[in-house]
Amino acid sequence: MKIIFLNVPGHGHVNPTLALVSELNRRGHHVIYYNNTEFEPQITKSGAEFRPYPEPQPTANELGQLASSLPQVSVWVLGQSQRLLPWLLEELHQEQPDLVVFDAICLWGMQAAQLLTIPSVASITTFVAEGVKGMINLRDGLALVGQALPALPGIIGKRRQLVRTYGPDIFPYSQIFPAISNTNLVYTSREFQPETDFIDESFHFVGPSINTAVRETSDFPWHLLEDGRSHIYLSLGTIYHNKAAFYQMAFNTFADHPAQFVLSAGRMTDITTLGPIPDNFIVRNFVPQLELLPRVDAFITHGGMNSINEGLYFGVPLVVVPQQMEQTLNARQAAKVGAAIVLGDRPPYGRTTATALHHALDEVLTDDSYRQNAARIGQSFRDAGGYEQAADIVTAVLDTAKQPA
Ligand code: UDP
Repeated sequence: MKIIFLNVPGHGHVNPTLALVSELNRRGHHVIYYNNTEFEPQITKSGAEFRPYPEPQPTANELGQLASSLPQVSVWVLGQSQRLLPWLLEELHQEQPDLVVFDAICLWGMQAAQLLTIPSVASITTFVAEGVKGMINLRDGLALVGQALPALPGIIGKRRQLVRTYGPDIFPYSQIFPAISNTNLVYTSREFQPETDFIDESFHFVGPSINTAVRETSDFPWHLLEDGRSHIYLSLGTIYHNKAAFYQMAFNTFADHPAQFVLSAGRMTDITTLGPIPDNFIVRNFVPQLELLPRVDAFITHGGMNSINEGLYFGVPLVVVPQQMEQTLNARQAAKVGAAIVLGDRPPYGRTTATALHHALDEVLTDDSYRQNAARIGQSFRDAGGYEQAADIVTAVLDTAKQPA
């Protein structure tokens, strides 16, 4: 059957779908996947037919610049809906897919499927956000209000225009994101998701969608990893990684540490400008994170949902230095289950000291409860079924859609 995927240009949003697409392809479905051309290689590798969004394509850069302000992301999402809906309605009309799978940030995907009454599934790569609201403290709340006020006119105006053009049913839910449907895939476990009444039987917690074979490949000098030493992985993800001062602090803090460190410094970072690299560091712009994680003893991360999910999947305890609010809430949940220590989780987020970083790393390495709790959550992830379970759920939606009304 024909399935259309709609996503945004962000590794965190795309990565969990790759294993699912590959599995759907293996089961004989034809997947057409829309995104920015930058993501074409991985998407094609997963077995989907890649198609670019119309020009000007939404870019990873513009999304990355907004991502630290959820209200600004809302304005962006509504603007993209206004721009993309006429094109998408025509495209879906031409293609006549059996199903649309949209990322929870692709409001236009949910809206087009709704307008054309095509069955749909939402792909949620974060926690179900309502659940983390309870972890927002007063300081975070004030920072959020500061971001929301200037964004409000844009949100209200764009929402009104969409309703004027397409009618009130274009917003079947009160929130802008997550954009949801009657079937919602969430790539974490029920155990790890914070409680909220918002979750009903339409939400399926399938755990991290992990299949190394379909992920972006990158060379890594495995022979440099020395036996008999602890290994620590440090990464601030694919958006917030241009942080030379943080990397230099890590070099200074850990140059004499007995462990060996791997730093993924990010594609935008010029490694030659970071200064002298200590002997116990391997530094690359991008590393095969899924292959590296099973070999490390701790992960110093920015707390992107995928990094947290992937780290815990392999039972790795975390030190989380969140760079914005969403990551702060992810981090607090990981700390709540006893698998992480959180640093720098006060607005403007991401600020910590060499002493705190050193202390936190030694603590997660020496206090075995962090590793045990990470392993417990990791087991709940594996029990959730991953991309195969996600494919079963998508197949069930297709089967129901096939039945005569
Ligand atoms: N990633 C990777 N190699 C790297 C850095 C990141 O494979 O060197 C992947 C990582 O496995 C994860 C994604 O990129 O799947 C990052 O997503 P996350 O949600 O953690 O953070 P974001 O990049 O969206 O801030």
